[in-house]
Amino acid sequence: MSEPTIGVLGLQGDSREHLLALEHLGANAVSVRSAAGLAGVDGLVLPGGESTTLGMLLASSGLDGLLRERLAARMPAFGTCAGMILLSRTVLDGREDQRPFGAIDIVVRRNAFGRQIESFEADLDIVGLEEPMHAVFIRAPIVEGLGDRVEVLASITQNGESRPVVCREANVLVASFHPELTADTRLHGLFVDIVRASFA
Ligand code: GLN
Repeated sequence: MSEPTIGVLGLQGDSREHLLALEHLGANAVSVRSAAGLAGVDGLVLPGGESTTLGMLLASSGLDGLLRERLAARMPAFGTCAGMILLSRTVLDGREDQRPFGAIDIVVRRNAFGRQIESFEADLDIVGLEEPMHAVFIRAPIVEGLGDRVEVLASITQNGESRPVVCREANVLVASFHPELTADTRLHGLFVDIVRASFA
């Protein structure tokens, strides 16, 4: 059986760790930095970084238009932290000209955890995973609204309210933390399964 190719957006942020996680799982993983590179992949990881900078780099590299088209055509995508912001429908506390891809029907707020706890770690129960996953949050976004088709796979409690931090809608998976920064590849494994299922 032929194996799908999974791209990792390599314009900014920690794309190398994502590539290593995918390779560890036996996936065929490549860095994507151009429209030609994007045309050759069957799924894409959008890493953390700074969503405003990533947005500008996507525009200047000529990737933005094709990425919008491919996401509209339901290419599988996995967005972590800033990548989750890029894939969302609406960004709160973003730049005025920030135009997310709308690939998953969620409303996210940037840098939502405030100054004191800009970065923190937590053990998360994630639907479908037997053991909790250790999660590293770095100036993370939170989900403040979601559509009916969005499945919440994990949440944390903030100021007494439960906030989704891992969500899925069809072939699009998002996490507000950085799964590539720990040795636990189970969330990447879920994405590899999504890409393989859509490729078969
Ligand atoms: N705060 C960043 C943003 O708004 C995301 C941080 C991250 O990706 N670690 O894009």
